[in-house]
Amino acid sequence: MEQIKMVDLHGQYLKIKPEVDTAMQRVLDHCDFVNGSTVADFANALATYTGAQKVLTCANGTDALKLALMALDLNPGDEVITVPFTFVSTVEVIVSLGLQPVFVDVHPDTFNMDVSQIKTAITERTRVILPVHLFGQCADMETILSIAREHHLYVVEDACQALGTEVTFSDGSVHQAGTMGDVGCTSFFPTKNLGCFGDGGALFANNNTLASRIFSMANHGMSQKYHYDYIGLNSRLDTLQAAVLLAKLPHLNEYIATRQAAAKYYDRALNDCPDVFLPVEVPFSTHTYHQYTIRLASGNRDVLREALAAAGVPTMIYYPQALHLQKAYRYLSYTVGTFPIAENLCQTVLSLPMHTELTMEQLQYITYQLRSFLQ
Ligand SMILES: *Cc1c(COP(=O)(O)O)cnc(C)c1O
Repeated sequence: MEQIKMVDLHGQYLKIKPEVDTAMQRVLDHCDFVNGSTVADFANALATYTGAQKVLTCANGTDALKLALMALDLNPGDEVITVPFTFVSTVEVIVSLGLQPVFVDVHPDTFNMDVSQIKTAITERTRVILPVHLFGQCADMETILSIAREHHLYVVEDACQALGTEVTFSDGSVHQAGTMGDVGCTSFFPTKNLGCFGDGGALFANNNTLASRIFSMANHGMSQKYHYDYIGLNSRLDTLQAAVLLAKLPHLNEYIATRQAAAKYYDRALNDCPDVFLPVEVPFSTHTYHQYTIRLASGNRDVLREALAAAGVPTMIYYPQALHLQKAYRYLSYTVGTFPIAENLCQTVLSLPMHTELTMEQLQYITYQLRSFLQ
């Protein structure tokens, strides 16, 4: 059996090597490395895939979040409601723009924003709700959108881990992650659902005005060459990365199906394990399993993780510390115990190997080892 990896980028590349190599060679032959025509081709293909009004590409997912907030004409001190149990980008961009993050706790089953806590977090200064679709499953967007409408707030979705996830609203309409709010953000970091060979990101905008502001802001705030309407960023998707992504996009659905099949295997094999809480699928969202994350009793987690590592099964802790308690964000003055669910998850979650190249033999081995340590 091949060594088990947390992610297997090389195996995924080898399967489509001729397509990707040809696409990259084409860029090398044209030398249109920045804003080449392939970038627009990829943006159009992604718009078709997601059903988004407009797709704007940028340098990475963090910049996508930053550009989204920059495009919304907010003022310093305006408040953005988000979650403390996520990757750091979300809060980093908020504070770097002089905005104020206001956290609400997450739900213990889904790890996503607990929508029952949003209303009490809203103040005079609240302008944005920024839910994160963690691990590949969407937050309760229908409720979030209705609260936002009622309070005249923007919604920016962090869909960096959830490209391809679908939400069904109560009217039966189906929407892709990132396309439901005013702006959605995604990342093409190599390990994401759709990964490139370096950094990359994109935004989904629900109207043309917002889209053209974002496009301009990602290109130094430029309106026409050497004329600047906004204070912008230099944040572009390289043509080489766009070529890789355009070649990989037709495979995204099969990548997702493979992740879901691995998740189903884990579900069945671990279903009756004592003291293990498996991922919970909500009825309104599909789950694309960017991560397959279980919960254990807190004392067990680290012991199990070491035993699995010794048996050749890598695991990861996403995330070991909640953002409100990180050193960099202590100045926000949140104390231990403020967000008990997020804090507890940091002690109890464990993400199992999850990628598109897991074999049946590897899945059997991983779950066999897990079961034998837990019995
Ligand atoms: C990966 C990720 C980001 C940032 O994406 P980068 O492309 O690495 O900048 C932001 N938010 C979440 C939830 C992520 O998982």
